[in-house]
Amino acid sequence: MRRLLHTPFAALALFAAAVFSQTAPDALLHSGLTEPENHTITVERLMLYHDSGEYEREIREVANAARDYLESRFKNVRKDEKLAAVFDIDETSLSNWAAMQDCGFCSYNIQVKYPIDHDPAITPVLELFDYAKERGIAVFFVTGRPETQRQLTVDNLHEVGYSGWTDLYMQPVPPTGTVKPPAHVFKPQNRQAITDKGYRIVLNIGDQASDLSGCCAERVFKLPNPFYLLD
Ligand SMILES: [Mg+2]
Repeated sequence: MRRLLHTPFAALALFAAAVFSQTAPDALLHSGLTEPENHTITVERLMLYHDSGEYEREIREVANAARDYLESRFKNVRKDEKLAAVFDIDETSLSNWAAMQDCGFCSYNIQVKYPIDHDPAITPVLELFDYAKERGIAVFFVTGRPETQRQLTVDNLHEVGYSGWTDLYMQPVPPTGTVKPPAHVFKPQNRQAITDKGYRIVLNIGDQASDLSGCCAERVFKLPNPFYLLD
């Protein structure tokens, strides 16, 4: 709550609540009004989820389950087998936590205010990525980031320790006047393209349900992300 109490928004909200409670408590009590949870409380709840270590613990749990799956299922990958693992990038391989917490989980124009070029790795996922490579599994990134961010993204991935991926699927910038299709449409298409190259996708990991639905992974692993939602 410390951070929030210093914001003009929170101060105004508290002032308004105090005035309201002094002038019209009965009116509120008998109005039958039920409000959605206050934004300030929601933000604080998400901060606590992260700062308590619970977010990281849950990420580690999912990554460990994915590793256990690879270890037990693919002890000996044959040379002629083209196995693949697919990794999402944001809130899977790289973390945007600094930007999210700074703006109170705003989901609008976040990449305008906060450049994406120095995102830290999500360590349990980096370890899973390296483990898949050690097993002889080809690793792919499939991301909703646009092609215009390719060089920034590649540099960022290298900077924090990712290397040796087979390919990075990004999204073309849509023609003027059109919008980019949603992730649940283009991500399966990207995975289909990987499959069409002769790979069998044994693992797909991401933080959104839209990272995981549709074509064509043998197992999917969902990381937690209560901070934003992408369809
Ligand atoms: Mg993501």
